[in-house]
Amino acid sequence: MDILNSARIDALYTGEYTCPYCGGSMEFEDEWETVLVCPSCGESIELDRYGYSDDEYDELYPTEDELDEDED
Ligand SMILES: [Zn+2]
Repeated sequence: MDILNSARIDALYTGEYTCPYCGGSMEFEDEWETVLVCPSCGESIELDRYGYSDDEYDELYPTEDELDEDED
């Protein structure tokens, strides 16, 4: 599944990722650009989760336990 939310789309255009916790500018942790870190407050977030609340993300990506339940 590859749905981009509006915050992520903005980031693609501007190249800037805003920390959801302190509003600072986030940077990629490593060259693979999978994890964003905030130099200001130290928070880190997977790029896939950027722009989503926890609830929204859980709806998009069910846990393995939830998938197992569906198969029973
Ligand atoms: Zn921050």
